[in-house]
Amino acid sequence: MSSALRFEVVGEAFKKKAVEVPSPAERPSEFFAKYVFTRQKMYKYLSAEAYAKMCDVMDKGASFDLKTADQVAEGMKRWAMELGVTHCTHWFQPLTEGTAEKHDAFVEHDGKGGMIEEFSGKQLVQQETDASSFPNGGIRSTFEARGYSAWDYASPVFVIGDTLMIPTVFISYTGESLDYKAPLKKALYAVDKAATDVCKYFYDDVKRVISNLGWEQEYFLVDEGLFATRPDLLMTGRTLLGHDSAKNQQMDDHYFGSIPGRVAAFMTDLEIQALELGIPCKTRHNEVAPNQFELAPIFEETNLAIDHNMLLMSIMKKVARKHGFRCLLHEKPFAGINGSGKHNNWSLATDTGILLHGPGKTPKDNLRFVTFIVETLMAVYKHNGLLKASIMSATNSHRLGAHEAPPAIISSFLGDQLSEILDHLENSTDDELITVAGKHGMKLDIPQIPELMVDNTDRNRTSPFAFTGNRFEFRAVGSEANCASAMIALNAAMAEALINFKQRVDALIASGTEQTKAILQILREDIKTCRPIHFDGNGYSEEWKIEAARRGLDVEASCPIVFDRYLDESSVQMFAKTNVFTRSELEARNEIKWETYTKKIQIEARIFGDLCMNHIIPVATRYQSTLIDNVHKMQQIFPAEEAARLSAKNIELIRTIAELSSYITENVNLLIEARKVANRIENEREKAIAYHDTVAPKIEDIRHHVDKLEMIVDDELWPLPKYRELLFIR
Ligand code: ADP
Ligand code: MG
Repeated sequence: MSSALRFEVVGEAFKKKAVEVPSPAERPSEFFAKYVFTRQKMYKYLSAEAYAKMCDVMDKGASFDLKTADQVAEGMKRWAMELGVTHCTHWFQPLTEGTAEKHDAFVEHDGKGGMIEEFSGKQLVQQETDASSFPNGGIRSTFEARGYSAWDYASPVFVIGDTLMIPTVFISYTGESLDYKAPLKKALYAVDKAATDVCKYFYDDVKRVISNLGWEQEYFLVDEGLFATRPDLLMTGRTLLGHDSAKNQQMDDHYFGSIPGRVAAFMTDLEIQALELGIPCKTRHNEVAPNQFELAPIFEETNLAIDHNMLLMSIMKKVARKHGFRCLLHEKPFAGINGSGKHNNWSLATDTGILLHGPGKTPKDNLRFVTFIVETLMAVYKHNGLLKASIMSATNSHRLGAHEAPPAIISSFLGDQLSEILDHLENSTDDELITVAGKHGMKLDIPQIPELMVDNTDRNRTSPFAFTGNRFEFRAVGSEANCASAMIALNAAMAEALINFKQRVDALIASGTEQTKAILQILREDIKTCRPIHFDGNGYSEEWKIEAARRGLDVEASCPIVFDRYLDESSVQMFAKTNVFTRSELEARNEIKWETYTKKIQIEARIFGDLCMNHIIPVATRYQSTLIDNVHKMQQIFPAEEAARLSAKNIELIRTIAELSSYITENVNLLIEARKVANRIENEREKAIAYHDTVAPKIEDIRHHVDKLEMIVDDELWPLPKYRELLFIR
């Protein structure tokens, strides 16, 4: 396909698909959550009794009986039918990184040969499905294939098209979690309980601690016409070959640049749809790489934030197609330029305010602040390997450790001021500490520090877990991932740290130590213990890798081996203590992780082999034949010596093509062999390791040779759109 032809593909797509910028008649405040069954709508559509009951259920954890469920379902159905809804589905998050739904119509026999619209409380609350085809890691055999989904009323139902969507957890017949939401809710419950208990040292009236999440979704847009001609993008979400474009991101001219018209139309359309579904979109901008963008909403309670992210990812893909684009959520669609992440801004808040917020008005506020900071660091320190495992995947591993992304070592950036506070606290004496507690703080000066700190917290883009004033930003999460994976590990680890903290403080108090003194003493111990996790330097540097290993941090970079961290005794104990996962659930989930890893690389290897043998080699051979033909003809029209001189360059090219082609052919065969050997391994972990060690590196190596051919072969013949076309033409 020639450049001109490729351009036509784009032009056609553009002509067909160029969509006008939608201009909503109303303001966002008017259409926000239009398609969500919010509390306001409950008030309108439910009876007074059902509404009051529902509020008790949502706010006070009252039990949800079937009578109330029937009443709520009736009101919901009335609201939904006014929007033209005919179906409903339980919407859940199996371990596939996507969401799942099975639609049922609102129809029932009326007993007189006709139909009535019916939607019962039972349908709302619970559904039974054959779950055997969802990943389950061997927890369920086909003879006990029942799976149950149950409504999560902390996340409101919403309408998409003609369907009422009910967010649910998904569990097995025997009660094990088969999804992300069930363990997430357990982790959030654990951190709520543990953090509330610790808050009670400072304030009696704290009733609840909420975990907040503000994610920042990065993505690429590629023209749909070009996308369709790249089997690798189509099948794997990333380009398996393609030479660097002469210009990519070196000019830094895309980051925060003005948003191209066609993309702006897409963004506006997307935001309207997202806002209508209650997703509080706030920020949009161009990212660092060409054709890379970001969308970030205002943070929300973690469970809801995750549902909203899952929902957003699915509508992004739909809206992109409407605008003639394909939306790439893969962490590394293009080699040589930045990949995409999904920074997870995480904080804890009480029912009255944010816990990680620096500026406190009283020493008590400040001590509480320092407590939560130090215990976060303890959690991240103790489980740094596990946290890495929680964000690790076949696709995200392309990004970790590369130069634009968080390194494959988890550490935490605190900034100068916070570091100083912790240093000071660690080295201060008991007397000074008591002074602080007595509000006369001079040396430690906790009451005055925070004002400075919030504005002066510097940024460090190389840190995977950075303090940014009132929250930690977990930057290693991948763009395609379900944030729940990271949030389960982080919140559960935090719960454990707080439980341990409280146990030790209580023991001191029981032996006669005054409370503030006891808290400070334990904090001092913990600051010392978790010192290795604190690193404000350049996380990308080679020295850090050596230093981190010396400090005992997890420096493993092989994806299948990193998954082992889930089965470390410290992880198993932590998840048991917080009631998030049992050992067998962890084992089952790891089976799925290894299997998924293998399948992803397997698909890549297959499609890559096809591309090499069916697309690249034939074209290279054809071009080579043209050159050979030319050399022969030169001999016919020029004297031998002159012909040899004039054809020298072409002969060189013929040789290069021959060498590259034979290297590629030979190694594609070796790649197939490596796959066959790996496929014979029964153990999922060993198989994944074989794919990691023997298959994946072969793809990268061969790719390098294909990319060299791309630079030589006639552009007219090259069968695939090149990076410069994929990344710059809109
Ligand atoms: P950045 O400048 O880091 O790229 P963005 O504005 O893109 O930041 O996104 C920051 C995200 O952090 C938003 O979702 C924002 O709502 C969220 N956020 C702000 N404060 C908190 C907090 N205390 N806890 C959790 N998330 C927060
Ligand atoms: Mg950020």
